[in-house]
Amino acid sequence: MPGCGQGSVQRYRSKPIDVHVPVCDECEAVWPDDGALDALAFQNLGGFASQRGGTSLWNELAPATR
Ligand SMILES: [Zn+2]
Repeated sequence: MPGCGQGSVQRYRSKPIDVHVPVCDECEAVWPDDGALDALAFQNLGGFASQRGGTSLWNELAPATR
């Protein structure tokens, strides 16, 4: 189980930066490379988004359709 092992990981689209990433709804871990959900390769949602000009607000995220 990736990250905290508690939340569920689902794919979201970050609307301002237009990328799809898997996000854990419990600890806000994201996996920016969109590959294996490695327990060590995750990044915090806030850091991930701010590096790319977004924010960590959940209302910027939309469930991905695939
Ligand atoms: Zn988690």
